[in-house]
Amino acid sequence: MKFATKVIHAGMEPDPSTGAIIPPIYQTSTFVQEGPGVHKGYTYARSHNPTRTALQTALASLENGRHALCFGSGMAAIDAALRSLKPGDEVVATADIYGGTYRLMNQIYAPMGVIFRFVDLTDAEALHTHIGPGTKMIWMETPTNPLLKIIDLEAVVKHCQNRGIITVVDNTFASPYLQTPLDIGVDLVMHSATKYLGGHSDVIMGALITNDDELAQRLAFVQNTTGAVPGPQDCFLVLRGLKTLALRMERHGQNAMKVAHWLDLHPKVGAVYYPGLPQHPGHALASRQMRDFGGMVSFELKDQRYEEALRVMKGLELFALGESLGGVESLCAHPASMSHGSVPKAEREAMGISDGLIRLSVGIEDIADLLGDLERAIA
Ligand SMILES: *Cc1c(COP(=O)(O)O)cnc(C)c1O
Repeated sequence: MKFATKVIHAGMEPDPSTGAIIPPIYQTSTFVQEGPGVHKGYTYARSHNPTRTALQTALASLENGRHALCFGSGMAAIDAALRSLKPGDEVVATADIYGGTYRLMNQIYAPMGVIFRFVDLTDAEALHTHIGPGTKMIWMETPTNPLLKIIDLEAVVKHCQNRGIITVVDNTFASPYLQTPLDIGVDLVMHSATKYLGGHSDVIMGALITNDDELAQRLAFVQNTTGAVPGPQDCFLVLRGLKTLALRMERHGQNAMKVAHWLDLHPKVGAVYYPGLPQHPGHALASRQMRDFGGMVSFELKDQRYEEALRVMKGLELFALGESLGGVESLCAHPASMSHGSVPKAEREAMGISDGLIRLSVGIEDIADLLGDLERAIA
């Protein structure tokens, strides 16, 4: 099945008791057993819930994986993925990683003895110097947040093969519409389903997808044991959101490309970060690795003062100022004070996140209205 068909049909079985075409919201905590231990696979809703099963089946199919597990948030999914690490284990992670992931690694796992190295993985050769016998995991984001750098997944996978290193991609920014890292040999894909998968800014959820049976079993054990599972209503919302994922991503990409080109020509705008622009350092790689360039665009004003960025963000009306991304509505954000507010200023600036940087999540509104909004705000 092609992607645009899978988003509509994967995981969709008529409800066995009624034939309902859409999986019902099984708002129940427990399931009546025919006898002790005699049941149809459902016993208690922390372990399994039919609405969640339908969503997990759909997500596995979209990422070309055998197993998917959903969690109460993207962070809970990341936490589940990190739980196999022990004191002394080493993790190499993307330098300009999502701020929340950085906080979880640095403030929860590092004090327990896990060692993290934050490295610019756009230079896959640099991995040589950072991988050692203690390395257990590579944590990647591509495109990265908020600078939209592109990592060569194939090159990283090649470095890690047969070394017992788990490669992970946080695929939130791309969504499986743009890239399916498991196809390249990546071990584990993580999502904040809060973003493009849900797509309507009305739910918080995370997911992990893999082809590795043993890894899936371990993660399912963590999911059931620590219990950070999403409720059935939220699973229903993400299932509903998925139906339009292909259509939405197509429009997000078209709009973002036009916004990036428009910003690039504006006299008051400095650097524009969008992998679809030919001058973007990851453009050639992104053209190979991704099916399109996505809906995220970051840019700096020539006047790099914080006050100037603030003036523009306050002037925007359609691009609401807010955390998050990937919804149908456009958003703008200030990474230095918002998503990366917990990263110390010196480290933040070393990552290339200046006070003048503005990140746009370009929605699926009419492009003329979006460009008009930017025009008025930047003027
Ligand atoms: C939002 C986000 C997360 C965290 O997900 P939540 O659903 O907010 O817990 C992780 N990674 C990336 C890239 C994100 O954008």
